[in-house]
Amino acid sequence: MKVRNEEKFKGKGTRRCKICGTSRGLIRSHNIYVCRRCFREIAKDIGFKKYG
Ligand SMILES: [Zn+2]
Repeated sequence: MKVRNEEKFKGKGTRRCKICGTSRGLIRSHNIYVCRRCFREIAKDIGFKKYG
């Protein structure tokens, strides 16, 4: 899974998942905006394994 897939959601106040674009279950920690599902996908990539 890639983390750099968020360009299409550029904009102010955009609070959507960077990856799938949903606004449900959004997580905005560590300067990332991803939903819970995608977070788990990228968590291993960014070395953030303490979630769940
Ligand atoms: Zn997502």
